Parts: sequence; C-alpha cells; structure tokens
Amino acid sequence: MEDCIFCKIIKGEIPSEKVYEDEEILAFKDINPAAPIHILVIPKKHIESLLKLEEADYELVGKIQKVINKIAKQLNIEEEGFRVIVNCGKDAGQEVMHLHYHLLAGRKLGSKIVG
Ligand code: 5GP
Ligand code: ZN
Repeated sequence: MEDCIFCKIIKGEIPSEKVYEDEEILAFKDINPAAPIHILVIPKKHIESLLKLEEADYELVGKIQKVINKIAKQLNIEEEGFRVIVNCGKDAGQEVMHLHYHLLAGRKLGSKIVG
C-alpha cells in the first residue's frame, strides 16, 4: 500500500531498527517504546487488521507466532516473560492500518491487560 507507514518500512523507504526478517515477515523496534523491549512483528503482505485476514493468511499468522517465540528466545526473555498484543480497530486504538503484533518485555508489565 502506497501511503502505509509499515509498507514503507518494509520497502526501506522509512528506516527502522530491524530485529528479524524473512521473506514474509519483518520485526523491528517500536519508535515509541512502551517497555524496555517493544518490537513490532508484521507480515510483509499488507493486511489492514486482524479482521481482514483471509483463509490463506492463517498460516502466515502461525508463522508470525513462531517468529515471536524465536525473538523471545534470542532476547533471553522466555524466562522472565513477555506480552503479545494486537490492536484491532477504533476502540483498541489501532493507529497503523497494517497488521502488527506488539511484543513487550523487559519490565513487570502489570496485571491488567487494558489501560
Ligand atoms: P497501534 O497503536 O496501531 O497498535 O500501534 C502502532 C505502533 O507503531 C505504535 O506503538 C507506534 O509507536 C509505532 N510506530 C508508528 N510509526 C512508526 C514508525 O515510523 N516506526 C516505528 N518503528 N514504529 C512506528
Ligand atoms: Zn502496509
């Protein structure tokens, strides 16, 4: 998508601090981290949100989860733990309309899921 920030990051038109990349998936540091470790894991395919996943995309979602686990191991946070969040739509506060998984870690994240 032409005017999508994350598509521009994928194309290298906007710089990012990449932590993982393969043919289908990119992971990079969030520009405004909410925790010491705050990584965004995204499909390279432009999918607007969780709700826009098509039948053929569910395999990709599984691969994203696999990448999240891989990064967690690389960063040695599998012992301490981490949180994965996907915001979908207005009430969840989704700002970038390109599916992204927030991986948060590096501090006690609190017992509440919602703010
Ligand atoms: P959302 O609120 O849509 O779930 O999350 C969007 C996230 O993207 C936010 O945490 C925000 O800080 C991050 N973000 C927005 N623009 C950029 C950018 O240009 N580069 C990076 N690395 N992160 C961004
Ligand atoms: Zn996009």
